[in-house]
Amino acid sequence: MTRVTLDTVRALDSDDPLAGFRERFVLPDGVIYLDGNSLGALPKAVPERVSAMLHEEWGRHLIGGWLKDGWMEKPLVLGDRLARLVGAAAGEVAVVDTTSINVFKLLSAALAMRPERTVILSNAENFPTDLYMAQGLIRQLGAGHELRLVPETEIEDAIDDTVAVVMLTETNFKTGAVFDMGAVTRAAHAAGALTLWDLAHSAGAFPVDLNGTAADFAVGCSYKYLNAGPGGPAWMFVARRHQEAAHQPLTGWLGHDRPFNFDLEYRPADGIRRHVCSSPGVLGLVAFEAALDLMLEADMTAIRAKSVALGDLFIQLVEQECDDAGFRLISPRAAGLTPPWIRGSQVSFAHPDGYGIVQALIARGVVGDFRDPDVMRFGFAPLYQRYEDVWHAIARLRAVLDGGEHLAEVYRERASVT
Ligand SMILES: *Cc1c(COP(=O)(O)O)cnc(C)c1O
Repeated sequence: MTRVTLDTVRALDSDDPLAGFRERFVLPDGVIYLDGNSLGALPKAVPERVSAMLHEEWGRHLIGGWLKDGWMEKPLVLGDRLARLVGAAAGEVAVVDTTSINVFKLLSAALAMRPERTVILSNAENFPTDLYMAQGLIRQLGAGHELRLVPETEIEDAIDDTVAVVMLTETNFKTGAVFDMGAVTRAAHAAGALTLWDLAHSAGAFPVDLNGTAADFAVGCSYKYLNAGPGGPAWMFVARRHQEAAHQPLTGWLGHDRPFNFDLEYRPADGIRRHVCSSPGVLGLVAFEAALDLMLEADMTAIRAKSVALGDLFIQLVEQECDDAGFRLISPRAAGLTPPWIRGSQVSFAHPDGYGIVQALIARGVVGDFRDPDVMRFGFAPLYQRYEDVWHAIARLRAVLDGGEHLAEVYRERASVT
């Protein structure tokens, strides 16, 4: 492979069709931010939109804002907009609650739709909150259900007629490996099981086609690749064909068919609305709205192409500049421009001193993150990263290693958020 130089990466930047998006984000000087997979960067439109909501909507309209400014309908209005990004139709997505809570709601709904089956099938590499929510739900339901975990490579073979729902995170949070959503969904349906996909590291990172793959249920968050800000509202998808039958247990007043009748008896609203529980968190929703509108201006195919190119460049430069350092690539080397995607929008390397290396890089302005036991993660967000950023990140990595900066005493203790 030909050596990459600073000129090579500058040429890539000058040909980049997405280059114009970078100036629409707030990025601190000198920082190379490779952690958009954990918390996306701040779009400049977000503070503007939130400020307008506070001053022009809340400040002037007071309670009238629920109708006049569309606050009440925002979970469904934004759901329809987000649907375009994830291959869903209008009326199939709501922006509500948190990812974990939506897992609980939809897992409950799915189990109730397969009453003769007892198994939630997932993989041992799944993001723990999904597994914890399943464990809590099983406890709540009393005896009878089981969370069965198998290695991710064995999922399809493990789907049998005891499985009610296959619950998977499409993109592995540590390695970035991506399940073949179409193939797993087909295998689940062939065995009579339902699917619940967690798209936390997928939506906004590469094209998602929920209806094209015949997915049943899905959840995802807004603050990673969708840039809605810390703790931004999550979203959920229920395929139209299941909307009559799917009932979730958190039956709050805003999922009622007629909330302002104040009836004593719960009666679910039609469609996706029954999955809303409470008054929407409007500040978080308008922040998400501004971030989502920006994302929708970009072409997802172009985002994917640049994401793959940034990841490939990162791998190539680590191997070119740091081949003596003992990094082990744990992400798939391949990445598809069409499904199967194979690798998401991150690259992870394992290294025994991974924690210290990530911390020393942060001290030098290169922000990635670390996951136990030895995983260094670097995320690619094509709307605000340049190819040249990858070049400088690896140059600073080389400098960290040359100076032994990662071996400093301060990095022996781990911080509470890594
Ligand atoms: C980030 C993430 C979550 C986050 O859940 P919250 O309830 O929003 O804190 C859930 N699932 C996966 C796979 C994630 O990566």
